[in-house]
Amino acid sequence: MATDPVCKKEVDENTPNVLKAQFWGKRVYFCSNECRINFRRDPQKYVPDSAEGKGPEYDKTKTNESWRV
Ligand SMILES: [Zn+2]
Repeated sequence: MATDPVCKKEVDENTPNVLKAQFWGKRVYFCSNECRINFRRDPQKYVPDSAEGKGPEYDKTKTNESWRV
């Protein structure tokens, strides 16, 4: 099981069509599209450890371009 970084609910990552995003090499899963939207809006708020100082080109001003679904 994975944990939804937004609401902290457990998400079964093996569910077909599970909602997920890739953020600096870390894969994150969401229980709902609402959580995914919240994450998209401010990813570093939800995964500060994996965001801060890790990607070689990490730049807070480019957060919206540094992750993909
Ligand atoms: Zn959620």
